[in-house]
Amino acid sequence: MYPKQPHLQPEDVTGLVDTHCHLDLEPMASCLSVVLASARLAGVARFVVPGVHPAGWERMNVIAQEQGGVFPAFGIHPMHADLADDNVLGRLTEIAGSGIAIGEIGLDPLYSVPLEVQEGAFREQLRLAVSLGLPVLVHCRRAFQRVLQILREENAHQVRGIMHAFSGSVEMAREFMRLGFLISISGTVTWDNAVRPVSLARQLPLESLVLETDAPDLTPQDFRGQPNQPAYLVEVLRAVAQIRGLRPVDVLRQTTRNAEMLLYGHIHCD
Ligand SMILES: [Zn+2]
Repeated sequence: MYPKQPHLQPEDVTGLVDTHCHLDLEPMASCLSVVLASARLAGVARFVVPGVHPAGWERMNVIAQEQGGVFPAFGIHPMHADLADDNVLGRLTEIAGSGIAIGEIGLDPLYSVPLEVQEGAFREQLRLAVSLGLPVLVHCRRAFQRVLQILREENAHQVRGIMHAFSGSVEMAREFMRLGFLISISGTVTWDNAVRPVSLARQLPLESLVLETDAPDLTPQDFRGQPNQPAYLVEVLRAVAQIRGLRPVDVLRQTTRNAEMLLYGHIHCD
């Protein structure tokens, strides 16, 4: 299923953090040991797994217990925001403390769940994050001003977070950075038609960037047509380094440090 190997060789890269990968989803879930082995071979050492549907939380917990370097973040994705009733939010409150962040949460008008329902779930989960002192992993498409306003109103600067697979402008990114948020660059930066991700990777300070795959989605250019996997994080690293005219190892060190500082106390260095 995953025939090709990424370009960078193991000696070039070690200790990468994939700040957003859905290891609990298919097709990765069914061949997790192979997926993690090839990721580690490619230099990816740690994996942040955000919640999508409440039914996935238990599996995320099991994966984290069985696999070294896997860190769950529990939460309800905006596409399932209609599930965020008192009962489910109560379960989230119980399980959230065993994760390293709350996520993924946010707003996305491209989904069928009404925006006011998404906003309610977003605010509830932000309040939980602030009360627990956990950072947040934010999913946002085409609703940047609204998300920014909600983050401000809910005091998200107290816990900060990551704008995952960020697709907004450089100016908008800087607004989130003012709240202490990091901007995550995904495989879209490698796509032939990429414009915004390339601008973000070129113009934002390296101190505000982290890297992710969003596997199984957003497969990098050279592997498009097949499901994404954490091993392909090196493609994102390579692209950011090339865009900035830096060595991959320099981008690796700084982005890893950024992820560690945000998730400090939760994500451990081996
Ligand atoms: Zn995701």
